[in-house]
Amino acid sequence: TSTTKPTEEKQANTEEDNEQAKATDLADASFLMKVLRSKLVKTKNEVEVQRNDPSSPLHSVKSFEELPLSEQLRRGVYDMGFNKPSKIQETALPMLLADPPNNMIAQSQSGTGKTAAFVLSMLSRVDATKNYPQVICISPTYELALQTGQVAEKMGKFCPEVKIGYAVRGERVSRGQKVTDHIIFATPGTLLDWILRNRALDPKKIKMFVLDEADVMIAQQGHQDQSIRIHKTLPKDCQMLLFSATYDDDVMKFAKTVVPDPIIIRLRREEESLDNIKQYYVVCRDKEDKFQALSNMYGVVSIGQCIVFCHTRKAASWLAEKMTADGHSVALLSGEITVEQRLAVLNRFREGKEKLLITTNVSARGIDVEQVTVVINYDMPVEPTGKPDFETYLHRIGRTGRFGKSGIAVNFVDGQRSMAIMKKIEEHFGKKITLLQADDVDELE
Ligand code: ADP
Repeated sequence: TSTTKPTEEKQANTEEDNEQAKATDLADASFLMKVLRSKLVKTKNEVEVQRNDPSSPLHSVKSFEELPLSEQLRRGVYDMGFNKPSKIQETALPMLLADPPNNMIAQSQSGTGKTAAFVLSMLSRVDATKNYPQVICISPTYELALQTGQVAEKMGKFCPEVKIGYAVRGERVSRGQKVTDHIIFATPGTLLDWILRNRALDPKKIKMFVLDEADVMIAQQGHQDQSIRIHKTLPKDCQMLLFSATYDDDVMKFAKTVVPDPIIIRLRREEESLDNIKQYYVVCRDKEDKFQALSNMYGVVSIGQCIVFCHTRKAASWLAEKMTADGHSVALLSGEITVEQRLAVLNRFREGKEKLLITTNVSARGIDVEQVTVVINYDMPVEPTGKPDFETYLHRIGRTGRFGKSGIAVNFVDGQRSMAIMKKIEEHFGKKITLLQADDVDELE
């Protein structure tokens, strides 16, 4: 209720809510997901296409053979283990590779093959007989720019004449130096310096401009402004492409300002549902009691891998310490550690080295671990206002029970407030959450 004093937990939460932190979290989550993802995300949904000129050709392809690609590029694609285009690639690639070029805004969730699609198009647009930059891709962070560049290096393995460069922090150009790489992967700030201050490349010679992870990009006003400034230096007939994992109004508004006359393609995410998930709640007195409950559950049943969500970083570290002291091997994922450290933690967890992953909301956003069978809400998800956070609940719980397997969610309820939140969540989704007594935890097996 509104009369409660702001607790330490709430303050920590407000702190995390500022723009910068959010933007960083988004970028980090996006990067982690990219690195951790080893295969395509499958979806049954169909690609939706929207274009101003309905007479322009619209066809999709079922194989890479049907596309106008050089033999070397095709080899690069097959060498990466791609047998056929992904759903979004079936529709996007013919349009991306067409002549005259099309501008495009493409949205689909992470893991559906957007990067591979535009990287392939970038490589195929280069005229390697001319030694200057012709294609640019901007990404929101250093890590993302390098990651995407690596995909291009791999895919272009059999096109050694195509040179790839990076305009990111640490990459310096000296005064008067002209960059000779054909493709530049960049972050907006450094690229802007290269163009405006160092004049290291001639923006008027750019024929393809890719704005990747636009949703992450615009989370930071500074990046948005820089992107627009870069965009203004480019020639009118430059092919403009924008990719985003989400389709919010602000992303689309931005997209339409940088991509004139676009073909818009969209692949909707399959709805997460609670259908094949058994939901329980356990009544506890306080956080110590919750710790006991967790510890007991772990002692009694072999529940496979499990993710435990806490409300704050502090709570997560506290619990991780307690569980470790109790002899459990625990992975702790929190915003305090660097992205590289997080990657290491997640990789260990994915390999099954730890069975228990303790985390906060923010740091777990977008993390997909397929073998997780149990999700525990150590703290019920609430919005900063204290209202139940239905979306986060679905998101957390939706991580289990994937791929037709049934999952289990256990909510720890301590006191009237969290009970009320649990009840509202139950009501909201219209799915019963069953009371789990301390002595029937073996139901979980
Ligand atoms: P997005 O950019 O939408 O996040 P990516 O292009 O990074 O998606 O692709 C996700 C994963 O799927 C990557 O591991 C990538 O190598 C792989 N992948 C992409 N296209 C194909 C394809 N046509 N066939 C098989 N795997 C693919």
